[in-house]
Amino acid sequence: QAKSLGSNQVCFFDPELQARLIERTQLENDLSLALEKRQLFLVYQRQVDEHGDVVGAEALLRWRHPERGLVSPVEFIPLAEGRELIHEIGLWVIESVCGLLVSWAQQPALTELTLSVNVSPRQFQEPSFVEQVREILARTGAPASQLKLEVTESLFVDDRDDIRRMMEELKSLGVTFSLDDFGTGYSSLSYLKRLPLDQIKVDQSFVRDLLDNSTSSAIVASTIALAQTLELEVIAEGVETEEQRAWLLQHGCLRFQGYLFGAPVPLDDGIPALR
Ligand code: C2E
Ligand code: MG
Ligand code: MG
Ligand code: MG
Repeated sequence: QAKSLGSNQVCFFDPELQARLIERTQLENDLSLALEKRQLFLVYQRQVDEHGDVVGAEALLRWRHPERGLVSPVEFIPLAEGRELIHEIGLWVIESVCGLLVSWAQQPALTELTLSVNVSPRQFQEPSFVEQVREILARTGAPASQLKLEVTESLFVDDRDDIRRMMEELKSLGVTFSLDDFGTGYSSLSYLKRLPLDQIKVDQSFVRDLLDNSTSSAIVASTIALAQTLELEVIAEGVETEEQRAWLLQHGCLRFQGYLFGAPVPLDDGIPALR
């Protein structure tokens, strides 16, 4: 007994592990203050159609940490998801995007564009999420039809009725849904016919090796065909080369996002650097 306790303690006081735990806790604490300290901001990456015309943009979160510099959302979103923080941050993102949409309402050329926001599965665990989105739309006056919520397959793993209901309520507000990172998560496709989706986003991992990996190209071709059958829009993310774009277009994908068309950029004054 004493012996195993002893070895546990050795493990607990592993200096490297302890250092990592401290660093993580520190980063979580910093993140909890990041909003009020105005360290979070959004960048926008354009989405184009088959002619190269901008049809919208995806909002992507950035954290400018005072000591660490830019921290990737890949690092800090999981930290936020581990705590209640994701709710506050997620609503701030939606509110910011709604503000931008309102400022666009004056410019006829922009009222056709949609802005996509990533929504973490954790945000759907907040029962008042729909009400909060409704409140933001009402208060800002943002046109809901220009707001697209990006969800991931992990949201559907448990096939929960309450999730479907929340999505339908959000749909009835006028917002649309995109299924992000398609093909990387849950393997059952049956949820596709039950959920009010509008768009499927081909994951960048398949786009990346589209031209040299026959499995990836088969997955992308099937995804495009599936989207067409289900009458969903399909967009490819992570498009970096003209060859990838040409292949995707040839297989019927008419929406693209990736460095080939532009990196994510800040849009400070609402004058879209996007167009
Ligand atoms: P995602 O939603 O799949 O976003 C696409 C990621 O691919 C972005 O990374 C984007 O900058 C990057 N990307 C765009 N074009 C290219 C390209 O041509 N090549 C390559 N290699 N990458 C490209 P980012 O901005 O680092 O975001 C990473 C992930 O963090 C996002 O993946 C999303 O899951 C999450 N995320 C970002 N912002 C938010 C947010 O506001 N809320 C939530 N819940 N998650 C967010
Ligand atoms: Mg996304
Ligand atoms: Mg994605
Ligand atoms: Mg991704």
